[in-house]
Amino acid sequence: MADLNTDVRYIKGIGEKKALALHKLGVFTLYDLVSFFPRKYDDRTQYRPIALAMDGESVCIRAIAADVPRLTRIRRGLDLVKFKAVDDSGIVDITYFNQSYVKDNIHRGESYVFFGKMEVKGAHRSMTNPVYETDEKENGVTGRIVPIYRMSAGLNQRSILQAVRQGLDVCGEQIPDILPEALRLRCELAPARYAYENIHFPADFGALELARRRLIFEELFVLACALGRMRGQRVREGGIPVHESDLTEFWSTLPFSPTGAQRRAVDQAAKDLHSGSVMNRLVQGDVGSGKTLVAAALIWYVWKSGLSSAFMAPTEILADQHYHTLSGMLEPLGLRVGKLTGAMSAKEKREVKALLKDGQLDLIIGTHALFSQDVEYTNLGLVVTDEQHRFGVGQRSALIGKGQRPHVLVMSATPIPRTLALIIYGDLDVSVIDELPPGRQKVDTFAVNESYRSRLNGFIRKLCGEGRQVFVVCPMVEENEELPTPLKSAEEHAKELAEAFPELHVGCVHGKMKSKDKDAVMAAFVKGETDILVSTTVIEVGVDVPNAALMIVENAERFGLSQLHQLRGRVGRGQHKSWCILVSDADSDDVKARLGIMTRTSDGFKISEEDLRLRGPGDFFGARQHGLPETHIADLGADTDTLQRAQQEASLLLSQDPELLKPENRLLRERVELLFRENADSFN
Ligand code: ADP
Ligand code: MG
Repeated sequence: MADLNTDVRYIKGIGEKKALALHKLGVFTLYDLVSFFPRKYDDRTQYRPIALAMDGESVCIRAIAADVPRLTRIRRGLDLVKFKAVDDSGIVDITYFNQSYVKDNIHRGESYVFFGKMEVKGAHRSMTNPVYETDEKENGVTGRIVPIYRMSAGLNQRSILQAVRQGLDVCGEQIPDILPEALRLRCELAPARYAYENIHFPADFGALELARRRLIFEELFVLACALGRMRGQRVREGGIPVHESDLTEFWSTLPFSPTGAQRRAVDQAAKDLHSGSVMNRLVQGDVGSGKTLVAAALIWYVWKSGLSSAFMAPTEILADQHYHTLSGMLEPLGLRVGKLTGAMSAKEKREVKALLKDGQLDLIIGTHALFSQDVEYTNLGLVVTDEQHRFGVGQRSALIGKGQRPHVLVMSATPIPRTLALIIYGDLDVSVIDELPPGRQKVDTFAVNESYRSRLNGFIRKLCGEGRQVFVVCPMVEENEELPTPLKSAEEHAKELAEAFPELHVGCVHGKMKSKDKDAVMAAFVKGETDILVSTTVIEVGVDVPNAALMIVENAERFGLSQLHQLRGRVGRGQHKSWCILVSDADSDDVKARLGIMTRTSDGFKISEEDLRLRGPGDFFGARQHGLPETHIADLGADTDTLQRAQQEASLLLSQDPELLKPENRLLRERVELLFRENADSFN
């Protein structure tokens, strides 16, 4: 007897090969199979008489094959099957390309349902490669809303659909309802069994909507419970007392005055610090808005109360950079600043750790090495994490776990909708830096195509001749990319550039390199030893190379606007006039519209709004920007109402049963634990 844990090979039609293909999609058991939700749906509910279908309309027709299908071989690799089909209203010519087997499946005089796009030219009607099935067939692929699944080689839509159908028939009744009954009724959610059936084979669009709502809620609810439970383990108690100090003393040491927004963010945080409870604040600000200075001011502020700070950066390079900036700013004021990164020698690390333990450092800057177990802090009052979304939620907790519940400041350049921030950061308060430092030069941005290549190379030569440096970013070429793509990989492109510019030094970083090698190449660029740095988006976050004056993005159509904006933020950080060139040969209107926005505006929030509007939130929050586990059906950007409700219900439930130990929450607890296990890397 099969149950939800049974191997997918149990399904008729799923042998070794197909099972392997399903594994690639994350489907191993029957439970996985019925939880493999469609990517989208095809509306095949509309029937038309042949003569009434309009040109370009996708419809079902019920028709009789009027002649014997003819197979014609046009040339090697191209054959056609053609025949005519009729109903009471008219005739349609049906053609299949490279599906010679259709010839044997269609029989003259028998009735079929065809679904496809009708083409009408005068009195002539035709359909190409329509989906078909015999008229009597039940649960087929016509006459209904048909699910479309994600694919991998070795599978086709029909085989997945049939497998899912069998899966539901065999063990649909066993799908547990992990939502507590009372909650399910209160939130007006469909039962699990109904939802799983209708997400795959919706009776109609209403049923589909009910199913989706239930499953999205369920997914977000489990996520909210998981995060909430983790957070609950760090109980909110009183914060370390910080006394008031006069910030003008700090501001007056700067070579410039802080912007109004920087001042506001610091004032808000300072207020948290002497409120008596622990600070949990997110500072959000566009690239270049000066978040580092906000951190510096607060590090100084807690130091005045005799407390030390830890500053965590996501990469070695950024840690180095922050070390330089912050020690330059704070050492003259009397703070003792140290650095701790994985790349340091064992001896250096030992020395720094000893100083830390001894209370000899007022600020330590580093990577995740900061929270390794053997690091002990004395008087830790403030933890700052930069570019927060690069860290797993659990990493942050690990650092916060050091010392006596320090105050927390997180800094991010990614604009996040309020509701999403709620789930990621829980009870974080938010300050927004909505103003750039004065005198910022605009980075002139142009969108060009390949025909500009030689002019572009001339420009590179000219700028490097003047001593400037150049970033070149290529899209990541995914391993599972289906077609051979014309995309340039960073490595190939770097080779081409090295040949084109024998007099210049070209460096290359990409995701497949070891992080040590990556850091070495980056460091050489930061020091000015290389002129051109070719990379995938590894440089997206925070790197400061004031001498870089040109950012070139290859295959710019492959990047989201927010990503392009982050990339552009890498130049124009020094006194040099800077440019951003977006290279793309794609000529769709959509691409033109997107790149056009980049050439016209430099406001990060405006750009991310446009990005959401044009691409839809799925992509925007895709690529694990937020450090949360991937969701299967919910869209963290779009399903905000449901997200909010799920968040509320999770808080309520956790307040009554923090460890989910009550019997009615057992299934939920198991799911939460499964989520932790499957996403160990983003939670830890
Ligand atoms: P981000 O918010 O992207 O982390 P940074 O903190 O790196 O921005 O600041 C970007 C640059 O702006 C730095 O070179 C910094 O010295 C400079 N800067 C920050 N605040 C001001 C200010 N108030 N006036 C002038 N320059 C500033
Ligand atoms: Mg920064």
